[in-house]
Amino acid sequence: MSSQTPRPTNLAKDGDDKLIISWSDGLRTTHTWQNLRNNCPCASCREERLKPPDPFRILKPSELVPLNPVQIEPVGYYAYKITWSDGHDTGIFTLELLRELAEK
Ligand SMILES: [Zn+2]
Repeated sequence: MSSQTPRPTNLAKDGDDKLIISWSDGLRTTHTWQNLRNNCPCASCREERLKPPDPFRILKPSELVPLNPVQIEPVGYYAYKITWSDGHDTGIFTLELLRELAEK
């Protein structure tokens, strides 16, 4: 990754459902936790998203309550790991992914 890649200078919660990231290039991006979780890059979530929707599927308890992050920690210089209130912590969100997922 080149040194040109903008880096977060600040992460802040906005209310209960949003994250605001300030970037070194002056951009501010807003991310809802729901959107981040829906785009979790880990293998099991990706697999889950590839499955065809099952109308008879039973909602998991974790889907009935809003998910919240309990911890966000930097992974090296290129990513953040989010630990969710349901214990899910295998998603590593790279800075590039975070920029991509920014609400337009
Ligand atoms: Zn995941």
